[in-house]
Amino acid sequence: ADALFCHCRAGFEPELAAELTARAALLGHAGYARTERDSGFVQFISDTAPALARALPFAELVFARQKLLRLAELSALDPSDRIAPILAALEGAAVRRDGQPPFGELQVEHPDSDASRPLSGLARSFGNALRPALRKAGWLSARDVPHRPRLHVVFLDGKHALLARSHPGDSAPWPGGIPRLRMHHEAPSRSALKLEEALAVLMDADERRELLRDGLTGADLGAAPGGWTWVMLRKGLHMTAIDNGPLRGHLFDTGRLEHLRADGFRWHPPQPLDWMVCDMVEQPRRVAERMATWFHEGWCRQAIFNLKLPMKKRWDETRLCLDLFEAQAGRPLHIRARQLYHDREEITVFARPR
Ligand code: SAM
Repeated sequence: ADALFCHCRAGFEPELAAELTARAALLGHAGYARTERDSGFVQFISDTAPALARALPFAELVFARQKLLRLAELSALDPSDRIAPILAALEGAAVRRDGQPPFGELQVEHPDSDASRPLSGLARSFGNALRPALRKAGWLSARDVPHRPRLHVVFLDGKHALLARSHPGDSAPWPGGIPRLRMHHEAPSRSALKLEEALAVLMDADERRELLRDGLTGADLGAAPGGWTWVMLRKGLHMTAIDNGPLRGHLFDTGRLEHLRADGFRWHPPQPLDWMVCDMVEQPRRVAERMATWFHEGWCRQAIFNLKLPMKKRWDETRLCLDLFEAQAGRPLHIRARQLYHDREEITVFARPR
Protein backbone atom coordinates (compact mmCIF):
# COMPACT_ATOMS: atom_id res chain seq x y z
CA ALA A 1 0.00 0.00 0.00
CA ASP A 2 1.56 3.24 -1.11
CA ALA A 3 -1.23 5.82 -1.37
CA LEU A 4 -4.50 7.09 0.02
CA PHE A 5 -7.28 7.29 -2.54
CA CYS A 6 -10.15 9.69 -1.85
CA HIS A 7 -13.28 10.37 -3.91
CA CYS A 8 -14.51 13.98 -4.06
CA ARG A 9 -16.86 16.22 -6.01
CA ALA A 10 -15.47 16.80 -9.51
CA GLY A 11 -13.81 20.22 -9.62
CA PHE A 12 -12.86 20.15 -5.92
CA GLU A 13 -9.65 18.15 -6.39
CA PRO A 14 -7.49 21.21 -5.51
CA GLU A 15 -9.36 21.60 -2.20
CA LEU A 16 -9.00 17.93 -1.29
CA ALA A 17 -5.34 17.92 -2.36
CA ALA A 18 -4.68 20.98 -0.19
CA GLU A 19 -6.51 19.38 2.73
CA LEU A 20 -4.63 16.06 2.50
CA THR A 21 -1.29 17.84 2.07
CA ALA A 22 -1.88 20.11 5.07
CA ARG A 23 -3.14 17.31 7.32
CA ALA A 24 -0.39 14.84 6.37
CA ALA A 25 2.24 17.51 7.09
CA LEU A 26 0.68 18.27 10.48
CA LEU A 27 0.81 14.54 11.29
CA GLY A 28 4.45 14.38 10.20
CA HIS A 29 3.96 12.22 7.09
CA ALA A 30 5.93 12.95 3.95
CA GLY A 31 4.19 12.58 0.61
CA TYR A 32 2.45 14.47 -2.16
CA ALA A 33 -1.01 14.74 -3.66
CA ARG A 34 -1.53 13.58 -7.23
CA THR A 35 -4.61 14.98 -8.87
CA GLU A 36 -6.17 15.86 -12.15
CA ARG A 37 -8.75 18.61 -12.50
CA ASP A 38 -12.35 17.32 -12.76
CA SER A 39 -11.35 13.68 -12.22
CA GLY A 40 -13.39 13.32 -9.01
CA PHE A 41 -10.55 11.91 -6.91
CA VAL A 42 -7.18 12.64 -5.33
CA GLN A 43 -4.39 10.24 -4.46
CA PHE A 44 -1.91 11.04 -1.74
CA ILE A 45 1.30 9.16 -2.45
CA SER A 46 3.30 8.33 0.66
CA ASP A 47 5.77 5.67 1.80
CA THR A 48 3.91 5.65 5.09
CA ALA A 49 0.40 5.48 3.56
CA PRO A 50 -0.95 2.74 5.90
CA ALA A 51 0.12 4.66 9.02
CA LEU A 52 -1.17 7.92 7.54
CA ALA A 53 -4.53 6.25 6.79
CA ARG A 54 -4.78 5.26 10.47
CA ALA A 55 -3.71 8.70 11.72
CA LEU A 56 -6.16 10.60 9.52
CA PRO A 57 -9.71 9.50 10.36
CA PHE A 58 -12.25 9.69 7.54
CA ALA A 59 -14.68 11.51 9.86
CA GLU A 60 -12.26 14.45 10.03
CA LEU A 61 -11.92 14.93 6.27
CA VAL A 62 -14.00 17.72 4.77
CA PHE A 63 -13.56 17.38 1.01
CA ALA A 64 -13.30 13.55 0.81
CA ARG A 65 -16.44 11.48 0.21
CA GLN A 66 -14.54 8.27 0.74
CA LYS A 67 -11.11 7.25 2.02
CA LEU A 68 -9.38 4.13 0.68
CA LEU A 69 -5.91 2.69 1.04
CA ARG A 70 -4.51 1.80 -2.40
CA LEU A 71 -3.14 -1.75 -2.62
CA ALA A 72 -2.22 -1.97 -6.31
CA GLU A 73 -2.60 -0.20 -9.62
CA LEU A 74 -3.49 -2.19 -12.75
CA SER A 75 -2.90 -0.01 -15.76
CA ALA A 76 -3.02 -2.35 -18.78
CA LEU A 77 -5.96 -4.65 -18.11
CA ASP A 78 -7.08 -6.94 -20.92
CA PRO A 79 -10.87 -6.53 -21.25
CA SER A 80 -11.17 -10.26 -22.04
CA ASP A 81 -9.80 -11.24 -18.60
CA ARG A 82 -9.61 -8.65 -15.89
CA ILE A 83 -10.08 -11.18 -13.08
CA ALA A 84 -6.76 -13.08 -13.25
CA PRO A 85 -4.58 -9.94 -12.92
CA ILE A 86 -6.66 -8.78 -9.95
CA LEU A 87 -6.18 -12.12 -8.17
CA ALA A 88 -2.45 -11.95 -8.96
CA ALA A 89 -2.21 -8.38 -7.69
CA LEU A 90 -3.88 -9.42 -4.43
CA GLU A 91 -1.24 -12.15 -4.00
CA GLY A 92 1.42 -9.49 -4.50
CA ALA A 93 -0.19 -6.93 -2.20
CA ALA A 94 0.82 -8.81 0.94
CA VAL A 95 -2.72 -9.04 2.28
CA ARG A 96 -2.83 -11.86 4.82
CA ARG A 97 -5.15 -14.72 4.02
CA ASP A 98 -4.63 -17.04 6.99
CA GLY A 99 -7.71 -18.72 8.36
CA GLN A 100 -10.66 -16.64 7.23
CA PRO A 101 -11.02 -14.50 4.09
CA PRO A 102 -9.55 -11.01 4.67
CA PHE A 103 -12.41 -9.09 3.04
CA GLY A 104 -16.03 -8.99 4.12
CA GLU A 105 -17.41 -7.07 1.12
CA LEU A 106 -16.49 -6.08 -2.44
CA GLN A 107 -17.32 -2.69 -3.91
CA VAL A 108 -16.65 -2.00 -7.58
CA GLU A 109 -16.87 1.71 -8.30
CA HIS A 110 -15.66 4.60 -10.42
CA PRO A 111 -14.98 8.29 -9.77
CA ASP A 112 -17.99 10.63 -9.88
CA SER A 113 -16.92 12.58 -12.97
CA ASP A 114 -18.36 13.16 -16.45
CA ALA A 115 -15.56 11.10 -17.97
CA SER A 116 -16.06 8.15 -15.59
CA ARG A 117 -19.84 7.93 -15.40
CA PRO A 118 -20.07 5.65 -18.50
CA LEU A 119 -18.14 3.07 -16.41
CA SER A 120 -21.13 2.38 -14.16
CA GLY A 121 -22.39 -0.55 -16.27
CA LEU A 122 -18.95 -2.12 -16.31
CA ALA A 123 -18.59 -1.65 -12.56
CA ARG A 124 -21.89 -3.43 -11.92
CA SER A 125 -21.33 -6.38 -14.27
CA PHE A 126 -17.69 -6.80 -13.35
CA GLY A 127 -18.56 -6.85 -9.66
CA ASN A 128 -20.96 -9.72 -10.28
CA ALA A 129 -18.24 -11.65 -12.13
CA LEU A 130 -15.44 -10.91 -9.70
CA ARG A 131 -17.30 -11.72 -6.48
CA PRO A 132 -17.52 -15.52 -7.00
CA ALA A 133 -13.88 -15.65 -8.17
CA LEU A 134 -12.73 -13.84 -5.04
CA ARG A 135 -14.76 -16.20 -2.85
CA LYS A 136 -13.34 -19.27 -4.57
CA ALA A 137 -9.78 -17.99 -4.07
CA GLY A 138 -10.42 -17.28 -0.38
CA TRP A 139 -10.24 -13.48 -0.52
CA LEU A 140 -13.87 -12.68 0.16
CA SER A 141 -16.24 -14.10 2.79
CA ALA A 142 -19.11 -16.23 1.47
CA ARG A 143 -21.58 -13.60 2.66
CA ASP A 144 -21.14 -9.90 3.27
CA VAL A 145 -19.68 -9.30 6.75
CA PRO A 146 -20.22 -5.62 7.57
CA HIS A 147 -17.45 -5.18 10.18
CA ARG A 148 -14.64 -6.75 8.11
CA PRO A 149 -12.34 -4.76 5.76
CA ARG A 150 -13.80 -4.02 2.32
CA LEU A 151 -12.07 -4.64 -0.97
CA HIS A 152 -12.54 -1.93 -3.61
CA VAL A 153 -11.94 -2.04 -7.34
CA VAL A 154 -11.95 1.50 -8.68
CA PHE A 155 -12.21 1.70 -12.47
CA LEU A 156 -10.51 4.78 -13.92
CA ASP A 157 -11.17 3.49 -17.45
CA GLY A 158 -11.87 0.09 -19.01
CA LYS A 159 -8.22 -0.93 -18.80
CA HIS A 160 -7.09 0.97 -15.76
CA ALA A 161 -8.21 0.05 -12.25
CA LEU A 162 -7.01 0.41 -8.68
CA LEU A 163 -7.31 -2.17 -5.93
CA ALA A 164 -7.92 -0.65 -2.53
CA ARG A 165 -9.05 -1.46 0.99
CA SER A 166 -11.24 0.35 3.49
CA HIS A 167 -12.28 -0.26 7.09
CA PRO A 168 -16.01 -0.03 7.83
CA GLY A 169 -15.52 2.19 10.90
CA ASP A 170 -13.29 4.59 9.01
CA SER A 171 -14.92 5.08 5.61
CA ALA A 172 -18.30 5.66 3.99
CA PRO A 173 -20.50 2.56 3.70
CA TRP A 174 -21.80 3.61 0.25
CA PRO A 175 -19.89 2.96 -3.02
CA GLY A 176 -18.03 6.12 -3.97
CA GLY A 177 -19.20 7.64 -0.67
CA ILE A 178 -22.56 8.56 -2.23
CA PRO A 179 -25.66 7.66 -0.19
CA ARG A 180 -28.66 6.78 -2.36
CA LEU A 181 -31.37 9.18 -1.21
CA ARG A 182 -34.64 9.69 -3.04
CA MET A 183 -36.58 12.90 -3.11
CA HIS A 184 -39.87 12.47 -1.22
CA HIS A 185 -42.91 13.79 -3.10
CA GLU A 186 -43.89 16.00 -0.16
CA ALA A 187 -40.45 17.60 0.24
CA PRO A 188 -40.76 21.36 -0.42
CA SER A 189 -37.35 21.60 -2.11
CA ARG A 190 -34.38 19.53 -3.24
CA SER A 191 -32.47 21.05 -0.31
CA ALA A 192 -34.31 18.54 1.89
CA LEU A 193 -31.96 15.88 0.49
CA LYS A 194 -29.01 17.90 1.70
CA LEU A 195 -30.17 17.86 5.30
CA GLU A 196 -31.17 14.16 5.02
CA GLU A 197 -27.66 13.43 3.79
CA ALA A 198 -26.12 15.51 6.58
CA LEU A 199 -28.06 13.51 9.19
CA ALA A 200 -26.87 10.24 7.59
CA VAL A 201 -23.23 11.25 7.05
CA LEU A 202 -22.34 13.60 9.91
CA MET A 203 -24.21 11.86 12.74
CA ASP A 204 -23.89 8.29 13.97
CA ALA A 205 -26.81 5.98 14.71
CA ASP A 206 -26.78 6.72 18.46
CA GLU A 207 -26.80 10.46 17.84
CA ARG A 208 -29.70 10.18 15.39
CA ARG A 209 -31.71 8.16 17.91
CA GLU A 210 -30.92 10.47 20.81
CA LEU A 211 -31.01 13.88 19.10
CA LEU A 212 -33.82 13.49 16.56
CA ARG A 213 -36.98 12.57 18.37
CA ASP A 214 -40.49 13.67 19.25
CA GLY A 215 -40.86 16.75 21.35
CA LEU A 216 -37.47 18.35 20.74
CA THR A 217 -37.35 21.96 19.57
CA GLY A 218 -35.48 23.68 16.77
CA ALA A 219 -35.10 26.77 14.63
CA ASP A 220 -34.37 26.94 10.89
CA LEU A 221 -32.61 30.16 9.81
CA GLY A 222 -33.25 30.92 6.13
CA ALA A 223 -35.98 28.28 5.96
CA ALA A 224 -37.98 29.03 2.79
CA PRO A 225 -39.46 27.18 0.99
CA GLY A 226 -39.08 24.73 3.87
CA GLY A 227 -37.06 21.66 2.88
CA TRP A 228 -34.94 21.54 6.02
CA THR A 229 -37.88 22.46 8.25
CA TRP A 230 -39.88 19.61 6.67
CA VAL A 231 -37.08 17.12 7.45
CA MET A 232 -36.97 18.21 11.11
CA LEU A 233 -40.78 18.21 11.43
CA ARG A 234 -40.79 14.61 10.14
CA LYS A 235 -38.41 13.69 12.95
CA GLY A 236 -41.00 14.94 15.40
CA LEU A 237 -39.50 18.30 16.30
CA HIS A 238 -41.31 21.55 17.01
CA MET A 239 -39.81 24.10 14.60
CA THR A 240 -39.55 27.87 14.32
CA ALA A 241 -38.80 28.82 10.72
CA ILE A 242 -37.12 32.19 10.09
CA ASP A 243 -37.38 33.67 6.59
CA ASN A 244 -38.99 36.62 4.83
CA GLY A 245 -40.02 34.24 2.07
CA PRO A 246 -43.07 31.92 2.15
CA LEU A 247 -43.11 28.32 3.38
CA ARG A 248 -45.10 25.52 1.75
CA GLY A 249 -48.59 25.44 3.23
CA HIS A 250 -48.73 21.72 4.05
CA LEU A 251 -45.89 22.12 6.57
CA PHE A 252 -48.33 23.84 8.93
CA ASP A 253 -50.60 20.75 8.98
CA THR A 254 -48.31 19.25 11.63
CA GLY A 255 -49.31 21.95 14.14
CA ARG A 256 -45.66 22.04 15.24
CA LEU A 257 -44.48 24.92 13.05
CA GLU A 258 -44.21 28.63 13.67
CA HIS A 259 -43.10 30.94 10.84
CA LEU A 260 -41.47 34.28 11.68
CA ARG A 261 -40.58 36.84 9.05
CA ALA A 262 -37.37 38.05 10.67
CA ASP A 263 -33.67 38.52 9.94
CA GLY A 264 -31.87 35.23 10.57
CA PHE A 265 -28.75 37.12 11.62
CA ARG A 266 -30.57 39.00 14.37
CA TRP A 267 -33.35 36.74 15.64
CA HIS A 268 -32.69 34.51 18.61
CA PRO A 269 -35.05 32.28 20.56
CA PRO A 270 -36.70 33.45 23.79
CA GLN A 271 -35.75 30.11 25.39
CA PRO A 272 -32.90 27.71 24.60
CA LEU A 273 -33.67 25.22 21.81
CA ASP A 274 -32.34 21.74 21.16
CA TRP A 275 -31.52 22.43 17.51
CA MET A 276 -30.61 25.20 15.14
CA VAL A 277 -30.20 24.57 11.40
CA CYS A 278 -29.14 27.25 8.95
CA ASP A 279 -28.96 27.39 5.16
CA MET A 280 -28.69 31.16 4.62
CA VAL A 281 -26.70 32.24 1.59
CA GLU A 282 -24.14 34.64 3.04
CA GLN A 283 -20.42 35.10 3.43
CA PRO A 284 -19.15 32.02 5.26
CA ARG A 285 -17.26 34.00 7.88
CA ARG A 286 -20.39 35.91 8.76
CA VAL A 287 -22.35 32.66 9.07
CA ALA A 288 -19.59 31.00 11.12
CA GLU A 289 -19.56 33.95 13.54
CA ARG A 290 -23.32 33.94 13.95
CA MET A 291 -23.34 30.17 14.54
CA ALA A 292 -20.66 30.61 17.19
CA THR A 293 -22.80 33.24 18.91
CA TRP A 294 -25.66 30.73 19.15
CA PHE A 295 -23.43 28.30 21.01
CA HIS A 296 -21.76 30.98 23.07
CA GLU A 297 -25.13 32.29 24.22
CA GLY A 298 -26.52 28.80 24.75
CA TRP A 299 -29.44 29.36 22.32
CA CYS A 300 -29.10 25.81 20.94
CA ARG A 301 -27.50 22.53 22.00
CA GLN A 302 -26.56 21.33 18.52
CA ALA A 303 -26.61 22.69 14.99
CA ILE A 304 -26.24 21.86 11.34
CA PHE A 305 -25.29 24.72 9.05
CA ASN A 306 -23.95 25.33 5.58
CA LEU A 307 -20.97 27.45 4.66
CA LYS A 308 -21.09 28.63 1.05
CA LEU A 309 -17.69 28.67 -0.63
CA PRO A 310 -17.90 30.61 -3.89
CA MET A 311 -14.31 31.89 -3.61
CA LYS A 312 -11.00 30.43 -4.71
CA LYS A 313 -8.81 28.91 -1.98
CA ARG A 314 -11.76 27.09 -0.50
CA TRP A 315 -9.63 24.92 1.78
CA ASP A 316 -8.08 28.00 3.38
CA GLU A 317 -11.50 29.58 3.84
CA THR A 318 -12.87 26.33 5.30
CA ARG A 319 -10.04 26.11 7.85
CA LEU A 320 -10.44 29.74 8.76
CA CYS A 321 -14.22 29.52 9.22
CA LEU A 322 -14.10 26.29 11.24
CA ASP A 323 -11.32 27.64 13.49
CA LEU A 324 -13.20 30.89 13.97
CA PHE A 325 -16.41 29.02 14.80
CA GLU A 326 -14.67 26.76 17.31
CA ALA A 327 -12.78 29.59 19.00
CA GLN A 328 -15.81 31.89 19.31
CA ALA A 329 -18.29 29.18 20.39
CA GLY A 330 -16.57 29.33 23.77
CA ARG A 331 -17.40 25.74 24.77
CA PRO A 332 -15.98 22.33 23.84
CA LEU A 333 -17.75 20.97 20.75
CA HIS A 334 -17.61 17.98 18.46
CA ILE A 335 -17.42 19.56 15.00
CA ARG A 336 -17.76 17.51 11.82
CA ALA A 337 -17.73 19.12 8.39
CA ARG A 338 -18.11 17.61 4.95
CA GLN A 339 -18.77 18.60 1.39
CA LEU A 340 -21.78 16.32 0.92
CA TYR A 341 -22.85 14.75 -2.36
CA HIS A 342 -25.76 17.21 -2.42
CA ASP A 343 -23.51 20.18 -1.61
CA ARG A 344 -22.32 22.17 -4.60
CA GLU A 345 -20.03 25.09 -3.75
CA GLU A 346 -20.48 24.64 -0.03
CA ILE A 347 -19.82 22.42 2.96
CA THR A 348 -22.12 21.28 5.76
CA VAL A 349 -21.16 21.39 9.43
CA PHE A 350 -22.57 19.48 12.42
CA ALA A 351 -21.68 20.71 15.91
CA ARG A 352 -22.74 19.31 19.30
CA PRO A 353 -21.45 19.59 22.84
CA ARG A 354 -18.49 17.46 23.72
N1 SAM B 1 -32.97 25.21 3.44
C1 SAM B 1 -34.06 25.73 2.60
C2 SAM B 1 -34.89 24.58 2.13
O1 SAM B 1 -34.54 23.44 2.42
O2 SAM B 1 -35.90 24.78 1.49
C3 SAM B 1 -33.52 26.55 1.46
C4 SAM B 1 -32.86 27.82 1.93
S1 SAM B 1 -32.37 28.91 0.65
C5 SAM B 1 -30.90 28.20 0.06
C6 SAM B 1 -31.80 30.31 1.53
C7 SAM B 1 -32.89 31.09 2.25
O3 SAM B 1 -32.26 31.98 3.14
C8 SAM B 1 -33.74 31.95 1.33
O4 SAM B 1 -35.09 31.56 1.45
C9 SAM B 1 -33.53 33.38 1.85
O5 SAM B 1 -34.74 34.12 1.88
C10 SAM B 1 -33.04 33.13 3.25
N2 SAM B 1 -32.23 34.19 3.82
C11 SAM B 1 -31.11 34.75 3.32
N3 SAM B 1 -30.65 35.71 4.16
C12 SAM B 1 -31.52 35.74 5.20
C13 SAM B 1 -31.59 36.50 6.42
N4 SAM B 1 -30.69 37.44 6.68
N5 SAM B 1 -32.60 36.25 7.27
C14 SAM B 1 -33.53 35.30 6.99
N6 SAM B 1 -33.50 34.55 5.88
C15 SAM B 1 -32.51 34.77 5.00
